[in-house]
Amino acid sequence: MAKVDIKYTKLFINNEWVDAVSKKTFPTINPQDESVIVQVAEGDKADIDLAVQAAKKAFHRYSEWRTLDASQRGRLLLKLADLMDRDAKYLSELETLDNGKPVTQAYGEIIWAAGIVRYYAGKADKILGSTIPADGDVLSFTLKEPVGVCGSILPWNYPVPMFIWKIAPALAAGCTLVVKPAEQTPLTALALAALVKEAGFPAGVVNVVPGYGPTAGGALTHHPDVDKVAFTGSTEVGRIIMNAAAAVNLKRVTLELGGKSPLVIFNDADVDKAADIAHRAAFANAGQCCVAATRTYVQAGIYDKFVAKAAEIAQKRKVGNPYEEVEQGPQIDKEMYDKVMSYIESGKKQARCVAGGNRVGSKGFFIQPTVFADVTDDMKISREEIFGPVQSIHKFDSFEEVVDRANDSNYGLGAGVVTNDVNIALAFIRHVRAGSVWVNTYEHVTTQTPFGGFRESGLGRELGEEGIQQYVENKTVTLNLPKKPLL
Ligand code: NAP
Ligand code: MG
Repeated sequence: MAKVDIKYTKLFINNEWVDAVSKKTFPTINPQDESVIVQVAEGDKADIDLAVQAAKKAFHRYSEWRTLDASQRGRLLLKLADLMDRDAKYLSELETLDNGKPVTQAYGEIIWAAGIVRYYAGKADKILGSTIPADGDVLSFTLKEPVGVCGSILPWNYPVPMFIWKIAPALAAGCTLVVKPAEQTPLTALALAALVKEAGFPAGVVNVVPGYGPTAGGALTHHPDVDKVAFTGSTEVGRIIMNAAAAVNLKRVTLELGGKSPLVIFNDADVDKAADIAHRAAFANAGQCCVAATRTYVQAGIYDKFVAKAAEIAQKRKVGNPYEEVEQGPQIDKEMYDKVMSYIESGKKQARCVAGGNRVGSKGFFIQPTVFADVTDDMKISREEIFGPVQSIHKFDSFEEVVDRANDSNYGLGAGVVTNDVNIALAFIRHVRAGSVWVNTYEHVTTQTPFGGFRESGLGRELGEEGIQQYVENKTVTLNLPKKPLL
């Protein structure tokens, strides 16, 4: 096991490291061997109040932050990106300790996240309003102003990218933030907070308060001085957040929730390539991915060949010590391990298990890459989000049938199609109901393109230009414009 130096375990409020008001701490667990890594300060309502106060003060109209040129906000973000690159090795080792993902993958996520910071750094002084030819003798234009104090509630599956997806556009727009990382993965969020300070952001602009969802998260979503909450996680908690926003102050809400995304493979596809795309789409990040393609639909003509290939690739997938060259580490925690195993047991009763189906080893939360064939749409494993290394293969005959089946879900996050027929691809793009559609690839999420869901997969978009628009308010200005100069 790698020895990783843990420097930060306290709350980060107003650029200071502080204990929780209650003095409480909670353990963060290594999913590889179930040991306690370290105790972390446990924030709750009192700490969220202090952090929101700091963020509100930093957002005051005469504050250092509010009076900074937009281009200077960009400069600070560029500095942060450079610091992330500098510390990428350390951050990735820390992430692997806390989250269990392979260290090479964690490293790639940090480099990607630093690139996102640079993208939004460049946008800071390009957030443009418009001049509008309005009716009457007037001059009208819009100002795009920062939405204010933002709460960010993060999941544990991609801790660094999720932290950055939330803070980078918010900071480019001039907002201030209070971030609550997931209870399972507080360590990289705190290490990033230290880099925010080192980059030179004024006190109170970014605050990080680890703690539990119903207490710290609940306090943030119920806070009357929080102007917006951005959340990534389960649909169930997404509903709680929308309700809280509605009840308290109609704070703006963006939600990136779950999915049960379909990947549809037509007869004309190359079976080996299609099986490879489908494998990555289902198993990336040990299946702990909101946009994972967990419903694989394969046309009847290539179905048997595809199932055999999918099973073969899954059996070869390397699972083990995430500090070594593996493709898959452990699941995040005992709760998720138990949940995934219960779906696997349900799948074994209803479908045909052609790969995996069991735990790996006896310590840590490792699960074999598992493939079910002959899955039908009514089965539990086909309807509910599993969030683990499980692929469910369904058979279909016609285009019309499979589009209806692909759309038969309350979710609508991602969808994919594998075909060489451009007409099939175009018809699929047109009729599938999902926030991202991929053709002959899957889960190709980029910094420049908006990401988010239809229906119960969420509200609003992150990344790209759309990402920054979620952190600005429109102010319409109308001036009386005399026809002649007033002499
Ligand atoms: P979750 O409960 O939705 O947690 C996500 C974040 O919300 C965490 O920071 C969590 O804090 C916080 N939270 C929980 N209850 C809250 C509340 N009442 N008010 C405000 N914030 C609250 O997700 P989970 O329990 O970790 O995982 C459960 C399921 O969610 C998974 O099986 C998966 O289906 C889905 N999920 C989706 C994503 C995604 O990327 N869309 C990511 C993670 C999980 P705590 O950490 O203390 O719970
Ligand atoms: Mg939870």
